[in-house]
Order: sequence, then structure tokens, then C-alpha cells
Amino acid sequence: MSDTANHKILIVEDEEAIREMLSFTLHRAGYEVLEAVDARIGKERLREKPDLVLLDWMLPGISGVEFARRLRQDPVSANLPIIMLTARGEEESKLKGFEAGVDDFVTKPFSTQELLARIKAILRRSRNQPGEEMIAIEGMELDTAGHRLRIEGKPLDLGPTEFRLLSFFMGHAERVFSRDQLLDQVWGDNVYIEDRTVDVHIRRLRRALEPYGYDRHIQTVRGAGYRFSRHL
Ligand code: CA
Repeated sequence: MSDTANHKILIVEDEEAIREMLSFTLHRAGYEVLEAVDARIGKERLREKPDLVLLDWMLPGISGVEFARRLRQDPVSANLPIIMLTARGEEESKLKGFEAGVDDFVTKPFSTQELLARIKAILRRSRNQPGEEMIAIEGMELDTAGHRLRIEGKPLDLGPTEFRLLSFFMGHAERVFSRDQLLDQVWGDNVYIEDRTVDVHIRRLRRALEPYGYDRHIQTVRGAGYRFSRHL
């Protein structure tokens, strides 16, 4: 498997020529590419679950740095890697960018090799974070790449939706998610699914975990949604 396999990159850039050049370069390097001309569309495309955002500093409407700040504040995109594209002369704004939660900067005009190297480095770093491949909480071990769950050393089969749900919860422990947020994150952009579906799958997941007592980690937060908590 190549380094770029299955990685999706969202480009938020209003200048068409630069956007097309980036898109071409990334495609050729083996990435899947999502494009947006501004922050509003960029936010919509988050539903397609990019692994990294290439974000232009100067955007019409919401600026790149403001968009980065919003991404960090939203629990569902809080850990999404961001590389900011700046023009020469905007470099002194880097501090503002880092404060907003940007992971790295690339100054225009940049070389293709430099950009690809930065992307690779950031993706490697984020892959090594807990929450990406192996997540262990209490006696539960989740291998998100291999789609396997072991409870106290023993494999437990879950339905694919229950697996994704548990994987999302374990990767974002202690945070409360509304049904809408869970639909976006776990089901993606399937608009035909009702909020109630979330409750159905939560119930199935709890039932599967119940014999081991781990169902209690999935907590209902009245009026808000659900939370996976390490603490019982
Ligand atoms: Ca621009």
C-alpha cells in the first residue's frame, strides 16, 4: 500500500488556477481530492471526511485563519490536520495561524515536492495519534484499520455501523455528540436517515457490550445526545 492510499485532502482556495494546480498535483500523487472555493463550501465538504485540509489564508468571506479557528472549536474537526497556504509577505501572520490551530504553513509560490513532503509528514504524525488505528479504553481494544474489536482479549463481532459508531466514540471520548453530529460523522452524507436511526444503533451497540458491562460507557446526555465516557 502506498503512503497516499485512501487519504483525502480538502483544498479550500478561491483562486481557480492555484486550486486546479493543487488538485492536479495531489491527484497525481495518489490522493483523493475535495475542492472548495470558500470556507462555507469547505465546511460542507467536511461531511466527506477529509484527512487533511489545505487552507488558503486569503479567502473571500470567512478568512482562512478564522475558518481554521472554527474547525478547531468544533469537536468533529478538532483534530483535523490543517496546512495553511500563505503568500510571501503574509509570513508574519504565522503566529496568528498557529494560535488558531494550524499545523503547518506553506508559502506561495511553493515547490510540488515541498508541499507533498509537508502533507506526508503531517499525515504520518496524525496517523500515530491514538484514535487513528488502535484505541484501547479499559478492557476494550479497537483496531480501526483491521475493523476488529477485542474485549478482555476476546474478539467480539459488531455490525459495521455499530463498529463505526464505537470507533468514533472511542476516538472522541468524553465529548457529547448530538444525533445530527453522529449522523454526519458515522453515516456520512446519507440524507435519508432519520435521527431515530442513531438511537436504534446505539441500542444494538449497548446490547452487544452489555454482557461485559461496557455498555455503561455509552451514556445518554438528556437533551444533548450521547457521550462515550471512560469514567463510570
Ligand atoms: Ca486566495
